[in-house]
Amino acid sequence: MPDGSARLLLILGDQLDRRILDWLDYVPDRDRVAMFEVAEEATHVPSHKARTALFLSAMRHFARRLEDDHEALEVHYVALDDADNSGSFAGELQRFAAAHHPAAEIDTLVVLRPGEHRVLASLEAAANALGWRIDLREDPRFYTTPDDFTAWADGRKELVLEYFYREQRKRFGILMDDGSPTGGDWNYDAQNREALRDDAPKIPPRLSFEPDEVTREVFEVVESTFPDAPGSLDSFGWPVTREQALEALDHFLEHRLPNFGTYQDAMRRGEPWLWHSLLSPALNLGLIDPREAVDGALARYEDDAAPLNAVEGFVRQILGWREFIRGVYWHQGADYADRNHLEADTELPSIYWTGDTEMECMRQSLGQVHEHGYGHHIQRLMVTGLFALQLGVVPRQVADWYLGLYVDGVDWVTLPNTVGMVLYADGGVVGTKPYAATGKYIRRMSDYCGACPFDPDQRTGDEACPFSTLYWDFLMRQRDRLEGNRRIGFVWRNVDRLDETEQHAIGSRADAIRARLDAGEPLTPG
Ligand code: SF4
Repeated sequence: MPDGSARLLLILGDQLDRRILDWLDYVPDRDRVAMFEVAEEATHVPSHKARTALFLSAMRHFARRLEDDHEALEVHYVALDDADNSGSFAGELQRFAAAHHPAAEIDTLVVLRPGEHRVLASLEAAANALGWRIDLREDPRFYTTPDDFTAWADGRKELVLEYFYREQRKRFGILMDDGSPTGGDWNYDAQNREALRDDAPKIPPRLSFEPDEVTREVFEVVESTFPDAPGSLDSFGWPVTREQALEALDHFLEHRLPNFGTYQDAMRRGEPWLWHSLLSPALNLGLIDPREAVDGALARYEDDAAPLNAVEGFVRQILGWREFIRGVYWHQGADYADRNHLEADTELPSIYWTGDTEMECMRQSLGQVHEHGYGHHIQRLMVTGLFALQLGVVPRQVADWYLGLYVDGVDWVTLPNTVGMVLYADGGVVGTKPYAATGKYIRRMSDYCGACPFDPDQRTGDEACPFSTLYWDFLMRQRDRLEGNRRIGFVWRNVDRLDETEQHAIGSRADAIRARLDAGEPLTPG
């Protein structure tokens, strides 16, 4: 047996990278390796059945592969339906210690930084209770460590994504030519706002993976353990192994990337996937590395197989936004989750759980979330998120909904996106302004409004689009808090043009919308 005390290496469900044992300095014959499926992770917020199934299936495949790849390694794997499963990480660590310690002479818990403050705190407390040291390793899958981000953020008045992103481009030499951005511009957003017209290219089909025996077993466990969980497993086709994830990456690069940029903000009825990468679940689980995705896109650009506006837009999402959001998560600390700058106090409407609404944009966006556990970024920001912002829903409730209802939901990404970007509840840490809008934005970017009984041009009256009513109501209610924001300074002139009667009618209509949603009543016109 090697010198030194033994350690327990814990692999969490979103750390399924084939290199993890190297990152945790695994020494055979000395260290134990554990993976726990625990109910707490599927119930601390209501979790979509597909989200839970994805984590569990990927974990089971990963544990098998790890044992195949490492001779004599036996992963201490606790399945969700194991008879004595305690249901929590803390409970499983205690059970492990009771069964193996002190015979195993473990004195250290080694783990990569989890994706959630809550999990980190619970592991620290559990290790402490056992008298173990915790050896927390930084997660090499990210380009930027929390310390890197803090070094960048400290001393800045505002954390502006654009500046962070440019630094990242320079630091890693990505899309840079002799110190300047490739093509001359840092971004090509102006080319990336096309709606889908009739002459748009044909939307490529989704690459869907048939559930294998392991995944089907997981389905049974999920259905029997969490029968009342939201969502459906019927359309589950997410990659659950590294091989499948690499295939999904190739499929995106080949079939979706060329049009990804142009149509990244477009929405269309019955089309949940469009040209989006659909890679966030595999990236967040660790089945592929962000560098593989970025390098793949860069190679396509170099081969003239994808245009710069698409490649830059994709690189910005991975190297810029994803890293920025995670930096904010750790930089802002655990109490970031409780920020509520706009003092929003409306309960999350039941339509978020049922999808049962006459608003076509919401019906489409919520329907596909319940069906697939997926919605692309513009639906998250400018439909489901916009509605919650303007309605004034409690930020924590919205953040928990995003965390649990999307297959790629992990706290480090859903929390800052929701609290910061979507709801402006952090008062401007993530976004420089609240993304408020009338229904006209949705009409411009989608075909939803043509199939909706409401009218985006109307803000009052029975046929008024709820988004349009709530937009003006939001501005009137939040004027004191937002008037100093230079980025939306122009809107107050428009608010001032509303006479008193109109302002009153908007407020009454907004109150009626809230009351109906609160009572679970339909928002039918008339
Ligand atoms: Fe949504 Fe309003 Fe358009 Fe209806 S009219 S689809 S509610 S934006």
